[in-house]
Amino acid sequence: MEVSALKKVGPKTERLLNKLEIYSKEDLITYYPYKYNIIKFTNIDEINDENNYYVLSTVISYPKVSYIKKNFNKLDFLANNKDINFKVTIFNRAFLKNNLQPERTIVLVGKYNKLKNIFVANDIRFNIDNETIEPIYHLTEGLKNSNLEKIIIESLKENIQIADYIPKEYKEKYNFINKGEAIKLIHKPQTIEDIKKSKIRLVYEELFTYMFKVNYLKLINKKNLGIKKIYNEEVVSDFLANLSFKLTEDQEKVIKEILKDLTSENRMNRLVLGDVGSGKTVVAITALLANFTSGYQGAFMAPTEILAKQHYESIKNYLSIYDIKIELLTGSLTKKSKEKIYERLENNDIDIIIGTHALLNENNKFYNLGLVITDEQHRFGVNQRNVLQSKGINQKTDVLYLSATPIPRTYALTIYGDLDLSQIKTKPNTRKEIITKTVMEKNIKEVLLKMLDELKLNHQIFVVSPLIEDNDYDISSVTLLKDKLNMAFNNKVKIEILHGKLKQSQKDSLMNDFHKGIIKILISTTVIEVGIDIPNATMMVIFNAERFGLATLHQLRGRIGRSNLQSYCYLVTNVVNNKRLKIMEESNDGFYISEKDFELRGQGDIFGVKQSGDIFFKIADFKRDYKILLQAKNDSEKYLINGVYKGNLLYENIIEKINFLD
Ligand code: ADP
Ligand code: MG
Repeated sequence: MEVSALKKVGPKTERLLNKLEIYSKEDLITYYPYKYNIIKFTNIDEINDENNYYVLSTVISYPKVSYIKKNFNKLDFLANNKDINFKVTIFNRAFLKNNLQPERTIVLVGKYNKLKNIFVANDIRFNIDNETIEPIYHLTEGLKNSNLEKIIIESLKENIQIADYIPKEYKEKYNFINKGEAIKLIHKPQTIEDIKKSKIRLVYEELFTYMFKVNYLKLINKKNLGIKKIYNEEVVSDFLANLSFKLTEDQEKVIKEILKDLTSENRMNRLVLGDVGSGKTVVAITALLANFTSGYQGAFMAPTEILAKQHYESIKNYLSIYDIKIELLTGSLTKKSKEKIYERLENNDIDIIIGTHALLNENNKFYNLGLVITDEQHRFGVNQRNVLQSKGINQKTDVLYLSATPIPRTYALTIYGDLDLSQIKTKPNTRKEIITKTVMEKNIKEVLLKMLDELKLNHQIFVVSPLIEDNDYDISSVTLLKDKLNMAFNNKVKIEILHGKLKQSQKDSLMNDFHKGIIKILISTTVIEVGIDIPNATMMVIFNAERFGLATLHQLRGRIGRSNLQSYCYLVTNVVNNKRLKIMEESNDGFYISEKDFELRGQGDIFGVKQSGDIFFKIADFKRDYKILLQAKNDSEKYLINGVYKGNLLYENIIEKINFLD
C-alpha cells in the first residue's frame, strides 16, 4: 500500500515522507524512532541543577516579543507552577506569541535559574498533559516529529501485515513477541520494558536476515568459478617500480594477494580494508592494469559522482603512458553521450570505465568485463554484493571491494564473512599526524583565531555541522553557522555550504570551486564524508562534535591531513569529558579508534543515537548489538544448512528476497 492512500497523508506530506525514503505503508511502520524522550514532569521548586526539565505550567501574562537583530528574537512571559510564579524566556519563537494566552496549560522544556527565577526554555509543548514516553524520529525539513508520530500511530490502527523473517524455531527459542506487536510497541511504548522487548526482536530479525545473506553468498561463492587470467607481469612490475613513491609493505602484500586471485581459476571476491589515506587507490589501479593486460575490460565504481570524477582523474594520470581507453560515465552526461559510451563498452572500445554504482544497474553490456572494483563498500552492504555476485553482468567477473572503515579483524570476518579479507594497516609515513583538539563552544574564539591563521597561510578549511533533523534546537544549523562565520571574518572570506539537499550539479560545482581554492571555507553536513582529496585543506572544525559517532568523526577528519602540511582538527562541543572526543584527541589510528569504538558501544545503550557512516540498518547497530549479531550468525548458519537439505520454505523466501533487493 502506498503512503498516499493513508489517512492524514496529502501530497505535500507524501513528498516529505518520500524524502525519508518512505514510499509504502511498510516503509512507514518500519521507520523506527532512533531515541525516546522520557517525559516526566518536575515541579519548579524541586529544580536545583542545570539539567533540562519538563515543567507543567500555566501561562499568567501575555508574552512580550523583542526583536534583537535579524533572525534573532526573544519572547518573555510569566508562568506559574505549584503556586510559584516565574519568568520564562525563549529565543526565536516569536511565532508562538498567539498561542500563549493567559490560563493556557503548557509544558515548558528547558533550564531553570533559581537565583534569577527565570526559566530559559528551549521548547514549549502544547500537546502533552500526561507523563509519557515520546518516540523521536529522524526528520526532514518541513516535517515535525509530532506529525510523523501521528501518521504512524494512525496507520498502526489497521491490521499490520508484514513478513516475519525469524524462523519459527528461533522465535520459540528466544520467546520473541510477534512482529506486529513489536512494531506497535516500538512506536508507542508504555514502559521501557516495552521498548526493550520490541527492540531486541526487531534487531535480531534484521541481523539474522543480514547474516543469512552473508552465509548464503559465502556458500554460492565457493561454487563460483572465475576466469583464469594471464596478465603481463613485466608491465605490472614496471608500473610499480616507476611510482613516485615506495609502496608500503601492506600495499605490496595486498597487491600480491589480488594478483594471485586474478590468475586463480576461482572468482575473486576480495575486500581491501584500509584506513583513510592508507593508499588503496594505487592498489586498485594496479589491479585494473593487470586485468587490462590480460585482455579484459575493467570497471571502477564509486559511491558519489564527485568521487568517481576524482578517481577518473587519478586513474588517467597513473595510466597515462599506456595505450588504455579510459572513460567516465556519470548521471550528468546527456542521454546521447551515455548511449555512445554503452555502445563503445559493448564493442570493446573502452578498456576501463569509471562511474557510480549506476554503472551496473543501467543494463549496459560489456564486451568482456573481467574485473569490477567498488570503492567505499561500507556504504552499501550485502545487497549490493548480492547483485554483483549472483546477478552481476557476468558470473565470472572478479570483484574487488575497497572499504575505508577500519574495523577489528574478528568483527570484519563476521560481517564480511562472504569475502576474502586483505588489510592495509599502516599508512605511508610521509604525512604529519593531524593535531586534534576539543574546544568548548564558549571558547570558540580560540578556534576562530586558528582559522584566521590558516586562512592567512592561504589554506582551506572544512566546517562540519549536523543538520537540523529533529526537535533539538541547540544544533547550529548550517545557515546560521555561515552567518556567524561571515560576521567573524567580516564577509572577507568566501564561505559556501554543501549539503545533501542540493542538486548533484550544484554539489559538483561547489566541490570544484573548493578544489580550485576559490572557496576558502566549506561548511558541510556529513554528505562528503569519504574519499575527497583536497591537499590544501589543513583544518577542520566539527560543531556539536559529541553528536557524531567515532567512526564518522574519524572518516570526517580523514579529509584533512592529505599533504605534508600540518593539519588541525577542532572538535567543538558543549559537553565536558566526552569519551569519544578524548579518543579522537589521543589517536589518528583508525584501527585503534575502531577498537575503542567497539568497547564503548559494546556496552549497549537502548537510547543510543543512530550513527551515520555505518552500513544502513533500520534498527540494528553492528557494534552495539554485537552479541546479538554473533548469535544471529550461528543461528542463520545452522538454518541455512538445514534449509539446503530440507528445502525449507521460509529459507526459499529469504533467498528470493535477497535477489530482489537492490
Ligand atoms: P585511500 O586509502 O584513502 O583511498 P589514497 O589511495 O587516496 O588513500 O591515497 C592517499 C594519498 O597517498 C594519495 O595522494 C597517494 O598518492 C598517496 N600514497 C599512496 N601510497 C603511498 C605510498 N606508499 N607512499 C607515499 N604516498 C602514498
Ligand atoms: Mg579512497
